[in-house]
Amino acid sequence: MEREELLASLRPRVTDERVLAAVADVPRELFVAPALQRMAYVDRPLPIGGGQTISQPSLVARMCELLDLSDDDIVLDVGSGSGYHAALLSRLCRHVYGIELDPELAEQAARSLTLAGIENVTVVAGDGAAGLPEHAPYDAINVAATASGEVPAALEGQLAIGGRLIAPVDCDGREHLHFVRRRADGVERTLLDAVRFVPLR
Ligand code: SAH
Repeated sequence: MEREELLASLRPRVTDERVLAAVADVPRELFVAPALQRMAYVDRPLPIGGGQTISQPSLVARMCELLDLSDDDIVLDVGSGSGYHAALLSRLCRHVYGIELDPELAEQAARSLTLAGIENVTVVAGDGAAGLPEHAPYDAINVAATASGEVPAALEGQLAIGGRLIAPVDCDGREHLHFVRRRADGVERTLLDAVRFVPLR
């Protein structure tokens, strides 16, 4: 499957033209192992090593769209894995800080991003459940691994006023995307699509 076919299949579901342009621009084949490159534009999750997976493009696009990013936004990406999701986010904002628990994946992600010519993503190795306080607050936070019970409080606490967060959360064996918007007078939480991600460790 080619990039154009993937884009055509996303069009009915993703309406934000900036997100579609990001999918069109970012070479997903640079973020998967050489043996999987011919699968890069199939709308499926793919293994990236260490038992982890890169999410399917339609889900990455949907999550990017939900964050409603502007050119000036500073974004935190928790569980950067291959770096693909961070790469799409980087086309929609000013800077992405990525945090990845597995140091080898973090290094590989940084290499792939450089190969893709992307300069506004910084990937660090570490535990993203605690966020990345040194660059907070964030206009948006993207989480790509499932938290148990609720969105980690540390992450909600690192949102700027007006900031948005999207995260998969498992409640009693049911896994959904949770959307959080921080307002001056509190936090608004919305339950969205049923999904499956690897666990946040
Ligand atoms: N967004 C990635 C897909 C990531 S899969 C991509 O585009 O490729 C989820 C990732 O979360 C895995 O790489 C896993 O190592 C990482 N992860 C799990 N728990 C984490 C934690 N506490 N902090 C940071 N990363 C974590």
